[in-house]
Amino acid sequence: MDDTLIHKGLREQLVEEIRSKGITDENVLNALRKIPRHLFFFDRSMEKFAYIDKAFPIESGQTISQPYTVALQTHLLSIEKNDKVLEIGTGSGYQAAVLTAMGAQVYTIERQQEIYVRTKALLSSFHLPITTFYGDGYKGLPQLAPFDKVILTAAAPYIPRPLLEQMKIGGILVAPVENGEQQEMIRIKKISDTEFEQTRHGICAFVPMLKGIC
Ligand code: SAH
Repeated sequence: MDDTLIHKGLREQLVEEIRSKGITDENVLNALRKIPRHLFFFDRSMEKFAYIDKAFPIESGQTISQPYTVALQTHLLSIEKNDKVLEIGTGSGYQAAVLTAMGAQVYTIERQQEIYVRTKALLSSFHLPITTFYGDGYKGLPQLAPFDKVILTAAAPYIPRPLLEQMKIGGILVAPVENGEQQEMIRIKKISDTEFEQTRHGICAFVPMLKGIC
């Protein structure tokens, strides 16, 4: 499927909408301009919803994250060129692709085999610096640690310790964390092996981070 002038125009409108909602980081907005979100929809008949600022169902009860949320998480990660990023929850692959447009190398884990297989094939057709893994994100990827940045794109009941351990000192983790009925976006900076600085960035809505694979 093509990335037409119409798609580019719709993307530009979406970028302006996200800017009006408070994300003014030009590098992040440029990354959103570069990645054709409509190519990440499993069901291509849903393509017309790609440039609306909403999360959307993909398959197996999962979602492609809302563009505003992708922009917010990308901004909070403070991506620098060649950052090695661990993503938990590959889903459609869209967030991973946006991170590569910021200059990151992405390692991403998905626990649902059907989604993993489909997104791996899609991403390899794009030739982006993304490596996909089938597994349980609670464990991270110890064999590839340490990472500069870690992003969770499913709501965690708590921050799994292995993910904090697999970060470099000075590294940043961004995650939606369950807090009662709601989820809150959390940013954690690793100051030393035992010290972490945490800030909060508003309420959000993600599918849950589940244990094990399926
Ligand atoms: N980053 C995605 C958002 C996907 S939705 C995107 O840009 O589209 C969250 C994804 O996290 C789902 O596909 C879900 O299956 C996956 N997930 C949930 N718990 C997980 C876990 N423990 N390990 C890895 N992936 C997980």
